[in-house]
Amino acid sequence: MSIFITRAHELADIKDELAARDWFMGTSGNLAIKVQDEPLQFLVTASGKDKRKRTAEDFLIVDKEGNPIGETNVKPSAETLLHCEIYGRSNAGCSLHVHTVANNVISEIYGDEGKVVFKGQELIKAFGRWEEDAEWEIPIIYNYAHIPTLAAAMIPFIKEDKGAVLIRNHGITVWGRDGFEAKKVLEACEFLFQYQLTLLQAKANLQAVK
Ligand SMILES: [Zn+2]
Repeated sequence: MSIFITRAHELADIKDELAARDWFMGTSGNLAIKVQDEPLQFLVTASGKDKRKRTAEDFLIVDKEGNPIGETNVKPSAETLLHCEIYGRSNAGCSLHVHTVANNVISEIYGDEGKVVFKGQELIKAFGRWEEDAEWEIPIIYNYAHIPTLAAAMIPFIKEDKGAVLIRNHGITVWGRDGFEAKKVLEACEFLFQYQLTLLQAKANLQAVK
């Protein structure tokens, strides 16, 4: 089987798993997986499709600038440039972008601080931080409507082959060396966001009964 077909199947499986979590509300979200370096080519989700369904035109192959390679009836996701920056600046093999209520609320609560920090959480190990009381910081960038500006705002935070950036009141972009790692980072982030929101709510409830 060609590497293209293998990667397309891998991305389709990831898409199904994230769809099962209902992380593609209103056709939002986009996924990408690298097919080759030199020249860079990656598969990305087609624009405006219901990602809960499997079709023959779910993905298309694009170059390092996000332009489709070859004939196609579909357009790459409007946010393909974000994936281009990740593959151009790291050894990531997969990058995922989803909009969830939890990541949007967290990005709004901590947006003015420009980051949300998690400390002493078991799931921080997903980011390769194994020490006790390790910290993990997720930057929060402004949601520029102009996609090249948004992609440029993310560049300073693409420092490692795996990572995560929140876009305020928009969603999260994560990446990892392969599909397994990118998904692990995404699931860990969403766990931490839900934990934080539940904790804040529980603290507020305790305060109210005091
Ligand atoms: Zn988005």
